[in-house]
Amino acid sequence: MSNPKRVPFLDLVTPHRELENELVEVYRKALHTAGFIGGPMVEGFERDFAAFCETKHCVGVGSGTDALRFALMALGVTGGETVLTVPNTFIATTEAITQAGAKIDFVDIDPKTYNLDPAKLKDYLEKQCTADPKSGKRVSKRTGTPVAAVIPVHLYGQMADMDGILELARGYGLSVVEDACQAQGAEYYSKKENRWRKAGSVGAAAAFSFYPGKNLGACGEAGAVTTNDEKLAAAIRMIRDHGQAQKYYHDIEGYNGRLDAIQAGILQVKLKHLAGWNSRRQEAAAQYTAMLADVDGIITPFEPDWSRSVYHLYVIRLKDREALRKHLAGLGIDTGLHYPLPLHQQKAYAHLGYRTGDFPVAESAASEILSLPMFPSLTGDQQHMVQEGIRSFNSSTKEMAGSTAR
Ligand SMILES: *Cc1c(COP(=O)(O)O)cnc(C)c1O
Repeated sequence: MSNPKRVPFLDLVTPHRELENELVEVYRKALHTAGFIGGPMVEGFERDFAAFCETKHCVGVGSGTDALRFALMALGVTGGETVLTVPNTFIATTEAITQAGAKIDFVDIDPKTYNLDPAKLKDYLEKQCTADPKSGKRVSKRTGTPVAAVIPVHLYGQMADMDGILELARGYGLSVVEDACQAQGAEYYSKKENRWRKAGSVGAAAAFSFYPGKNLGACGEAGAVTTNDEKLAAAIRMIRDHGQAQKYYHDIEGYNGRLDAIQAGILQVKLKHLAGWNSRRQEAAAQYTAMLADVDGIITPFEPDWSRSVYHLYVIRLKDREALRKHLAGLGIDTGLHYPLPLHQQKAYAHLGYRTGDFPVAESAASEILSLPMFPSLTGDQQHMVQEGIRSFNSSTKEMAGSTAR
């Protein structure tokens, strides 16, 4: 660390320094073969990442947003159907829904995990929908169109409670697309199947982002879809490449949404380190949780016994979030907000007509969450500084409360 007195939110420099020779070698190989688009580096990464996720197929695409959009399109969700997701996600999740040609609706989250709450999904399908007499599908009262798919977001690196979601999806004929953009390597224990399942292997398809700051990040933009469905994989391969399976013979209109060969090569190098990096994050998370256990007013992340989170983010919760954020910034400790404003309250979605109070769990979480520094090379000393910073905030607010009481 260059400045021991500062704690950055994320350190992207250290891992690249450590792997510099191998990463430069990828670039050299691409230069020497001029293999920039497609080819063995893309295929190699797709094979390795499918194996990592325990899926049959992986299709590399240009970004996580592409991955979400192409997965929906390949599933046939293109004709104005309704797709459900949560309000506390990055806007890419809902951009993908609209851009595929579908309509967005939201379901509120579980207050402890911040992920899609299966009970609220059930409630939505039973009470906020009517039955279409012809297809038997659930029709959203809000959007007026059949509910075709649901996108559970594995937020902060922890998988949503998938058993309940999958059962409802089966019952009501919904496709499930996992937004696994923050959850490379996360696991979920399915009580129904009596085994641990990897993120990306549970839904009909799953979207991954390799944006540089993700647990597995490219040195630029990149993403992937994983699936066990060969037809779906073939459809996504067409969509990412202008609707062609054979060069210049276009079955459909597609997109320019391919995974760059240099990024694929870089990801293949980094993938070998992902399990180790995830373990480092898990150790650091356990350390934070132990350090903060006796600090009043701070709620640490909840990891149910059916979950193995990969801690893309370590998110605490407290009433006076803004004041703590300022206090830590004053001590040279960077923090983040994921996310400060739920999607239904964003200007971009004003036309959808939601109101404050529509998703109370997501709304109150948004005003109380704070993401602490979290990355594989985070040191014990840095974590200690964060702990001290939070403790000094607590004692200063107590003094102030005491003085106003007098
Ligand atoms: C990062 C992210 C995306 C989008 O990925 P890009 O590669 O930036 O397009 C989508 N959903 C979630 C939850 C993300 O965190």
